[in-house]
Amino acid sequence: MCGIVGYIGHREAYPIVIKGLKRLEYRGYDSAGVMLYDGSDLKVSKTKGKVSDLEERSTKEISTSGTIGMGHTRWATHGVPNDVNSHPHLSNSGNLAIIHNGIIENYEPLKKELINRGYTFKSDTDTEVLVNLIEDVQKKDGLKLGKAVQVALNQVVGAYAICVFDKNKPDEIVVARLGSPLAIGVGENEFFIASDASPFIEYTSNAIYLEDEEMAIVRLHKPLKIRKIKDDSLVDPYVQELQMNLEQIEKGGYDHFMLKEIYEQPNVIKDTYRGRLHSTTGIIQMAGVEDNLEKFLNADRILIIACGTSWHAGLVAEYIIEEFARIPVEVEYASEFRYRNPIITPKDVVIAISQSGETADTLAAIKLAKEKGAFVFGVCNVVGSSISRETNGGAYTHAGPEIGVASTKAFTTQITVLTMMALRLAKAKGTLSNSDYFRYLQELELIPEKVLEALNTNDISKEIAAIYKDASNCLYLGRGYNFPVALEGALKLKEISYIHAEGYPAAEMKHGPIALIDEKMPVVVIAPKQGHYDKVVSNIQEIKSRSGKIIAIVTKGDVQVKELADHVIEIPETSDALSPLITTIPLQLLSYHIAVLRGCNVDQPRNLAKSVTVE
Ligand code: GLU
Repeated sequence: MCGIVGYIGHREAYPIVIKGLKRLEYRGYDSAGVMLYDGSDLKVSKTKGKVSDLEERSTKEISTSGTIGMGHTRWATHGVPNDVNSHPHLSNSGNLAIIHNGIIENYEPLKKELINRGYTFKSDTDTEVLVNLIEDVQKKDGLKLGKAVQVALNQVVGAYAICVFDKNKPDEIVVARLGSPLAIGVGENEFFIASDASPFIEYTSNAIYLEDEEMAIVRLHKPLKIRKIKDDSLVDPYVQELQMNLEQIEKGGYDHFMLKEIYEQPNVIKDTYRGRLHSTTGIIQMAGVEDNLEKFLNADRILIIACGTSWHAGLVAEYIIEEFARIPVEVEYASEFRYRNPIITPKDVVIAISQSGETADTLAAIKLAKEKGAFVFGVCNVVGSSISRETNGGAYTHAGPEIGVASTKAFTTQITVLTMMALRLAKAKGTLSNSDYFRYLQELELIPEKVLEALNTNDISKEIAAIYKDASNCLYLGRGYNFPVALEGALKLKEISYIHAEGYPAAEMKHGPIALIDEKMPVVVIAPKQGHYDKVVSNIQEIKSRSGKIIAIVTKGDVQVKELADHVIEIPETSDALSPLITTIPLQLLSYHIAVLRGCNVDQPRNLAKSVTVE
């Protein structure tokens, strides 16, 4: 998830692009770059680091004049964050420049084909493949830029918001969108292009938001024409008048980054399995797993090490890997593991999970496991992070930057990666029947839609939040796959609302926590129809007998729990193993609304930091 900015008009482009990139830095901040055209020269400057680093470098490196410009702030998906992988990328001839937000899924076969045709590549990105594909089409078919972009995009599988500039056609920028946002600001004889309207809000309040599968040639002195990429049909541009302020735009209209990130989950889960999961052929393609398959298959056990929310994702993975692939799994807090002289052998596979890839305890645990000869596999969100470099192999989640300190989309994308891994191992070991294997693949593909539906629980979660916002304690109960979800639900409430909350396996309640239950105690019970439903219903009855207030997360259409609970939140049905991806959504929303109603700083809760780089 990167930020893109473009300008074509009568003003100096550089200050507009740089200021715009700073406003889009919430979308990615591992590297940045700019391209300017001054009527004769195409100038590019790019660097690893933040937009301020780019500013420092570019003013020394290039002349910043020019009334056409494009800029990019990157959140790497392909290739580590470094100077070379930063955008813009140039085509082999040096005539075309591109900035891109998204993932080109089929970049590998396209790249091979282009290499066969004599193209060379400087970077490891999927984006550089796209710009050369456009150039190749242009040359082969003798097409103008707009047409060449269209033909190339019809060969591409994936997601993109792109701006392409051709030195030989310097009065236009070609833009296109599929799955990543792209707004065009329409001024007097000038156009602004950006991932959201924040870079141009002070220049114009007229914006056109491109829809998926649309492209436009943004040309000076000409009316804007929008076309469908697939069939070339013309689309009437719909110019909106912007009413939001800058801060609202950066947060996509949401009040907080946390809420925005909760709502991003359908898309980022899709981004995470995009290009990896092929439900029709039954192929799961994860290079890190494929390259090290033997290590996993020969492992005596898998040891998962993580902290906080990632540790909860690890617990979900324990259930999934053991059930699907029948490999013994243990899950440990990294901070405990590193200090307790653990028994590790070269027959162990260690999976380290961390959103930032910088968690100090997890890093130290990885080093210890490596010293003892284990194979260490990383699951991180940040490309090129310390953990991704320190591990022997790995798989990225594609959640995009998570700004809210309380983790939400990182959790569900981690579970997505770990589920795909479990399925791949199960296939290799033959521990799942063919029909179950295909059913899970198809179900995983349906998860984004179901998450979207689960987000409809926002209103009811808000109503329930208003009733319990002043509680001083709260219990979260779940069984099986939903026991870790109970832990995660309680953690979310603690971290952002400062209400004391505990998660427990529902049956464990009788061994202690039940003593806490009285009419003042809200108890959130995760009770989907699948799994240990009847047992959970009995636990609900036990809470009711002690006058506890029951908030139940149930499958749509449930009747039994509805009769017992004080409140029910209905979620769509999915199999037991995949249910954490759905049941966790209303819990995120509940804690979010409680925190807001208590007046807490949701995105930056007290005493907490996003990436825990100290032990
Ligand atoms: N796939 C591109 C890269 O890795 C764009 C990244 C993005 O939009 O997240 O550079």
